[in-house]
This record gives sequence, structure tokens and C-alpha cells, in this order.
Amino acid sequence: MTTGQAAQRTLAEADALAEFDAVVVGAGFAGIYMLHRLRGLGFTARVIEAGTDVGGTWYWNRYPGARCDIESLSYQYSFDDSIQREWNWSERYATQPEILEYANFVADKFDLRRDMEFETRVTAATYDDASERWTVETDRGDRYSARFCIMATGCLSMSRLPEIPGRDRFEGESYHTGQWPHEGVDFSGKRVGVIGTGSSGIQSIPLIAEQADHVTVFQRTPNFSIPAHNHPLTPEQLASNKEEFQALRHEAERMAPARAGGQLEIPKAFDLSDEERAQRYEQLWEIGGVAFLGAAADLLIDERANETAANFVRGKIQEIVRDPEVAGVLSPDDHPLGTKRICVDTGYYQTYNRENTALINLRDTPIEEITHCGVRTTAEDFEFDAIIYATGFDAMTGALLAMDIRGRNGVSLRDEWAGGPKTYLGLQVVGFPNLFTITGPGSPSVLSNMLISIEQHVDWISDCLEFMRQGDLCTIEATPEAQDAWVAHVNEVGDRTLFPRANSWYVGANIPGKPRVFMPYVAGVGPYREKCDEVAASGYEGFALDAPRTAAPA
Ligand code: FAD
Ligand code: NAP
Repeated sequence: MTTGQAAQRTLAEADALAEFDAVVVGAGFAGIYMLHRLRGLGFTARVIEAGTDVGGTWYWNRYPGARCDIESLSYQYSFDDSIQREWNWSERYATQPEILEYANFVADKFDLRRDMEFETRVTAATYDDASERWTVETDRGDRYSARFCIMATGCLSMSRLPEIPGRDRFEGESYHTGQWPHEGVDFSGKRVGVIGTGSSGIQSIPLIAEQADHVTVFQRTPNFSIPAHNHPLTPEQLASNKEEFQALRHEAERMAPARAGGQLEIPKAFDLSDEERAQRYEQLWEIGGVAFLGAAADLLIDERANETAANFVRGKIQEIVRDPEVAGVLSPDDHPLGTKRICVDTGYYQTYNRENTALINLRDTPIEEITHCGVRTTAEDFEFDAIIYATGFDAMTGALLAMDIRGRNGVSLRDEWAGGPKTYLGLQVVGFPNLFTITGPGSPSVLSNMLISIEQHVDWISDCLEFMRQGDLCTIEATPEAQDAWVAHVNEVGDRTLFPRANSWYVGANIPGKPRVFMPYVAGVGPYREKCDEVAASGYEGFALDAPRTAAPA
């Protein structure tokens, strides 16, 4: 072989495509289960993950106090009963390290890592009309060819730093809750500034305040938070859950929330007398957690009903926080309760009774800039050793649009979604054949226990791929009519609730310039599942399915 031939071969090899039936992007709970199903069906698959290991959300969000806000006993897979039988959760709300260990346990149990590529970020995915295949490109220069491209990229995986002038000038330590250092951070003896009071801020502030010398919290908008009343799980609770788990999950998967007319046994707020209502709110406050939103059937539909619950929580804040002025600043007043993701805390409001914790109301004195030594508001200069950004995520569409995804005829997803995301069932987008989005916009996703939604989507996609294989079909693509009707339906049911009123990440309001569209589907996992099952049973009505145009696919 001549030197020229050898060089040519090396070039050809470098350009070679690794070929798979499916490429899955992301190794969180969605990617983990998707790979398991694909393997089980005999499809060749590769998972590509930016992090160094599995876990997704629980790999990245390692800040102090990070926990689930859906109870651990529900926030787990159901697809293989031996998982829950072999795994024992230690607390009602598991910590991030425990949930990450669980993700690792599942990956090990099914030997999944051998089909995963870590420390690799997908930069582009392009559909080729002629070969009817996707080419997936990464930041390492690798290229993969696959018939199916499955996005398991997460709804809350694109952490977001705010556009505050001078951010890079700060000479102390800077952290984002969603990209926390693996080795942890010791705040002992330090002056810490925390920007942001969503779930991440509310979970982390109490623990940081316990450790640091002083904490200053910068709050722009107060949020509603309900106590977790976390506690260890007893052997008896674990044992009985193992027996009941599958039945409970089956029920939860079919549930319609009160806001969509489900759970008829839940009273409406004004069906109760003032006293009965107060009692019910008190009971649910004592139970703790997101269940508080089920206090009345019409909380997320009727503004007056909502106000009764919001007033109750504001009353609790006044009771807990000793300084009435601070309690006032902490009391939400700009959105109905629950229309921004309700927070679940351990000792959050109590933290403001500590000598070493101060609250700055950015509505009165906005941040002007980050300086080399801290934060400057319109009123004051603050000096810090560390600044923590608990400023959230470019939710639901952020991770998808960070990639250059191009469908038929080079059409770009960024262009298609310039006015907001449009999908059929949150699973597919017109013009992007064989591309699936797990928990995509237009599905219940972030309004549900995400493990339920992830399993449902992975199962639906897996069944669809098997259906296509059985029928010797090569491509599936949502039809414009079905997508338009679904988008209209998602908006229509969303508009029946109070959700669109809040400037939440559900509507993209946290990202300057992001189109304001209410992205999740509010009708609940039960009705949604029914619709998906009907579509599948009808032979995938609303989707165009085609036989191969080219030679048999690889
Ligand atoms: P993720 O876990 O987000 O995983 C997506 C993965 O894709 C990430 O690892 C990311 O690195 C990778 N990725 C993205 N883009 C690329 C790319 N271009 N190339 C390569 N890799 C890429 N939900 C609940 O139901 N209950 C809870 O209690 C709960 N608590 C939460 C707490 C926090 C702090 C956060 C941020 C979210 C929480 N959620 C909760 C939502 C949570 O995101 C889901 O429950 C679930 O973990 C999502 O799994 P996933 O696999 O879909 O996405
Ligand atoms: P978030 O809810 O979007 O909160 C971000 C916070 O940062 C808000 O208080 C926001 O204020 C503030 N902020 C953003 N930009 C700012 C700026 N320029 N100046 C000052 N303040 C600014 O993000 P998150 O707390 O990370 O939570 C996101 C979601 O992840 C949650 O809603 C939940 O679904 C999930 N999560 C769950 C848990 C859990 O309990 N299991 C924990 C963490 C996260 P404004 O409101 O004024 O914009």
C-alpha cells in the first residue's frame, strides 16, 4: 500500500459513520430505559451523553439539599419489578446522591454502559432524505448514522446563567446549582450570595446557611413553598410498598388531575365552609409536599379558589418568619399558587430567622452588576467569597434547540419552533421523520411524576418501532393536520387553567426573548396515555408511515 493510499484510508476511517438502528441522546432516566427497551427488541443502539456517567438531572444537580419532590417510593421505575424489590429508599424524599446511586444501580443491573458514550455532546442531527437516516454529530468529531434518533435530552437540563453585567468579573467562587462540582463545596467561614429563589434556591439555602458564615439571598420573585416533612422510611413501609407498588403505579399512570376533572372525590374550595377549608389546608400542610395542590379540585382553575389556598400559605409564612417585613417580602403576590412549580422545602422560611441570613428584595433594589468582589444592587455593594446562581433552566426546549437539528429538506428545528414548540403528542415534529422527543413539549412531562411520563413515552416509542419492523415500514412522521390539532388542544386545555397567567418557565418567561407558549399538557397522564394508546391501536393515526424508498435499511 502506498503512503497516499494509507493516508486516504485514514481519512476515510475518520469520516466513517458508526451505524446503529437508533441513537439516543442523553443518559438520564429516559435514556437509560430507552436503551434497555431497544436492546430488548434487538435493535442496535448507542446512547450519547455529555456527562461522564448516567443520571442526568441527578448527575448534574449536586447542590446541598438537592432531593426529589415526588416521594421516592413513587419516583422510581416500574418496568421491571425486580428493580424496586432490590432497591431500598432510605427517606420519604431521597437525596440527590441516593437517586444518582439508584440510576447507577439500574445501569449496572442491565449492563447498559457498554452501549453508552460519555463526555460527548451531540451538536447536530441531520436527516438525509435519500437514505432515510439520521446523521448525528458530536463535539468530539464523531459521526453516527441511525434510522431513529431519540432525544432523551431532558426538560430541565440546560442550566441558565442570568445576563447580569460583570458576571465574569467576580474573583471569588461562582456556582450554578445545575452544574455543581462533583467534589462538593465547603462554605464554612464564607460569605455567600445566592441569586434565585425557585426550587433549587429553596432547597439549598437552608443548608448553605447552616454552614456558611453569612448568606445573602437575592430574591426577585417570591415562590410558594410547602414543607416536605421528610423522614426516614421504616422497614415496614418499604416492605408494604414493595407489595403495593405495581398496583399503585398502575393507578397513578391512569390518573387525571383534579384540574382536568379527575379525582371527583376532591371538593372544590367553596364547597367547604371557611372552617372546613382551613382545616383541609392545615391537614395537607401537615402531610406536606406537592400534594398540597390537591387540597381543592379547582385550585388551578378558579382564581378565587386559588386565592384561599395562597392566603393560607401566606399566613403560614407570617407565622414562621419572625420579622414581619421579611415575611412580607417572602410572600408571593404575583402568581396563583401552583402556576409556577410549587416548591417543597425543609426549613426554608425558618432560615430567615437566623442571624446569619439576609434577604434582599430585588423588586425594590435590582441587581445592577456583579463586581470583582460581589454584587451591586441599586442600593448597596455586597462582598462575597462565593456567589451561587440558583437561576434555573432553559426548560423543555433548551436542550433540543441547543443542537442543530435538521429534518426533511434541511429544515431546522430552531426555525420550525421560532414561534414556540409544536409537536404531535410531544413525541414527534412534522418534517422530522423518525425523530422522537421523550417528554417533549406538548406532553404532560414536567406536570407529572416524570418517571411515569418517561416510561410511558419509552414504551410507546418502543412499541412503535416494533410495529414498524413488523410491517416493514421505514419512516414515521407526524402529519401537519394531527400536529396542528394537537397544538390547538394543548393550548385550549392549558387556557382553561390558571397556569398561563404566571411568568414561569412553563411558558418560557424566564428566558429573555423566548416565545411565550405554555409548553406542557395539563390534562394529566391518564387522559394523555389513553390518547397515545388509541393512536397506536389505530395503526398510528395522525402519523404518516412509509415503506423504505431505498434498499433495505441497515
Ligand atoms: P435528564 O435527567 O435531564 O437527562 C438528560 C441528559 O441528556 C442529561 O444528562 C444531559 O447531559 C444529556 N444531554 C442533553 N443534551 C445533550 C446533548 N446535546 N448531547 C449529549 N447529552 C445531552 N421530576 C420529578 O418528577 N420529581 C422530582 O422530584 C424532580 N426533581 C427534580 C429536581 C431537580 C433539581 C431538577 C433539575 C429536576 C427535577 N425533576 C423532578 C425533573 C427531572 O428532570 C426528571 O424527573 C428526570 O430526572 C428527567 O430525566 P430525563 O432522562 O428525561 O432528563
Ligand atoms: P427556577 O424555578 O426557574 O428559579 C430560578 C430563580 O432564579 C427564580 O427565583 C428567578 O426569579 C431567579 N432569577 C433568574 N434570573 C434572575 C436574575 N437575572 N436576577 C435575579 N433572579 C433571577 O429554577 P430552579 O429553582 O432551578 O427550578 C427549576 C425546576 O427544576 C423546578 O421548578 C422544578 O421543576 C425542578 N426542581 C425540582 C426540585 C425538587 O424539589 N425536587 C429542586 C430543584 C429544581 P424570577 O422568578 O423572578 O424569574
